[in-house]
Amino acid sequence: MKNAYQHVWWFIKQEYKKYIVVGIVLVMLSIMLAIPAKILGVAIDEIVASTLTPIRLVVLALGLFLFPLARYLLNIFYHYNINQLGHKLSFNLRENYINHLFELDAAVYEKYTKGDLISRATNDLQNLTALATNVLQTVVFNFGVLITAIVMMVMINPLLTLASIIIMPFSIFWLNKKRAKKREYYKIHHEVYGDMTEKVLESIEGVKAVRAYGQEENDFQKTKVAIDKDIESWWKILKFESIYGPLFELVYAFCYFVGIAFGSYMVITSQITPGELVTFLIYVGMLYGPLIALSNVLNTVNNIIISDQRYFEIMDMVPSVKDHEEAKEVFDFKSIEFKNVSFQYPFDSAPVIKNITFTINKGETIGIVGPTGAGKSTLIRQLLREFNITSGTIEVDGVNINDLKIEGMHDLVGYVPQDHILFRRSVDDNILIGKPNATIQEVNTAIMLADFKKDLKELPDGSETMVAELGGSLSGGQRQRLSIARALVKNPKILILDDSLSAVDAMTEANIIASLKEARSEETNIIVAHRFSAVAKADKIIVLQNGTITDVGTHTKLLSYDNWYKMQYLKQIKGDTYE
Ligand code: ADP
Repeated sequence: MKNAYQHVWWFIKQEYKKYIVVGIVLVMLSIMLAIPAKILGVAIDEIVASTLTPIRLVVLALGLFLFPLARYLLNIFYHYNINQLGHKLSFNLRENYINHLFELDAAVYEKYTKGDLISRATNDLQNLTALATNVLQTVVFNFGVLITAIVMMVMINPLLTLASIIIMPFSIFWLNKKRAKKREYYKIHHEVYGDMTEKVLESIEGVKAVRAYGQEENDFQKTKVAIDKDIESWWKILKFESIYGPLFELVYAFCYFVGIAFGSYMVITSQITPGELVTFLIYVGMLYGPLIALSNVLNTVNNIIISDQRYFEIMDMVPSVKDHEEAKEVFDFKSIEFKNVSFQYPFDSAPVIKNITFTINKGETIGIVGPTGAGKSTLIRQLLREFNITSGTIEVDGVNINDLKIEGMHDLVGYVPQDHILFRRSVDDNILIGKPNATIQEVNTAIMLADFKKDLKELPDGSETMVAELGGSLSGGQRQRLSIARALVKNPKILILDDSLSAVDAMTEANIIASLKEARSEETNIIVAHRFSAVAKADKIIVLQNGTITDVGTHTKLLSYDNWYKMQYLKQIKGDTYE
């Protein structure tokens, strides 16, 4: 709880003036709630004593109407302001969360699913916001009502007050002890909810594939299992609530019973007036809501503590890949040397690439081939510094890559992955993600080099055509060429095509690569490919098998003796499938 408040305290401090105002309004609202009962009591006593004049009646009746009216207006003011604070806080928390996700390294995305990360940014974040809004409101307002009502009751008669409400604190204490178990159920529910979100997300994302394979029923069953689990875990919470929640009503009935019985006796013995008894009983009635709300606050807070832990589990994460204080800028390079590089994914048991040593020189076009799963992508993605390598070094002009700014390396590299991530924006905007301030000339050159020009003519609105989520409105080849144009627009020092032309035919692939090589003769191109025709003109070809380099050479050299490359090449030109 303390931790959770520390986490939103900066916001309360920042907005303290507004908080003071809404706090005062809340206290006023709670005190004003007690006034009509007092007026009613006075009116009854004056009626009983036959001293109620018409003017006095009008004054008292007006009081009964005006106080609720004033409360209504104050309520509007209060809710407007507290909601504004709530929105501001959740916006801030969400912004921090998203910025932090960008800072974290790839290991986080290995550990947490998308659904889990989303539920932390929605459900958990909302709960955390409630701490600085709803919870504060519940505590201040209800304590205000409780204290006001009890003070008024004591002023009527202390003994009657003690007799009527003595059992309340004990019963609440006991009930809350019982409810501690619910916290456990809530924790489980959070996890189940995250799993369900993930499953639903996957179903929505994969809806086309699911349909194409006729797997609707199968997918539905899996989603249903996730939803059923969610309902089941929620059900446990509800069951608990329905058994222990209403118990307090019984306690309350008992308090009323004592109040009426003992109160009537006091009226008869002239210790209090009938009007005071009515006022007193109304105050007993006023205690119920605040007591329930305050005892529930503990549950809400328990819930919030879990959300706080979940939200800050991500926020407190420090990326393992980060710039150290003296990290150097990097704008260009002459050579990049991989020296005995091995790399193991964070949650894997064995390294994927082992003892890799090779050099990338500026201006070279390098081909990388090898069986699927050999580690080609893993090897080349080390230049993006998504993870720290497990052993060995990568040196850029003699400087360890770990001593260079990550952003500098990202600027150096234009990476086109196998899975093309396109955004729900126009074609042009998708290209401009590569370089937001690119000139028209630069965009056109990128489009031309990526062989995307002919596609623009076919698209309904040319470069203004909206690309659907995940590039749905474009063909596979168009998506790939668009992604290449995006990487090319910044004219990167190193262009990496990671099997990114698999959806175009061999001839087009070879043509695109040949024109890239020519246009970018000063720069470096790294081409991971399945088709040998794509790498045939490379300055050097690296053959990677099972995470190690088994051969290096030009196409001609590699074909000059018996090896995996030659064997696969011959198979491929015969039309057999690649291993
Ligand atoms: P290639 O590009 O040659 O097909 P990859 O580099 O994609 O090979 O994959 C090499 C191996 O690393 C594969 O066994 C793959 O399952 C594993 N791998 C790839 N990405 C991850 C990851 N994010 N976490 C764990 N293992 C991975």
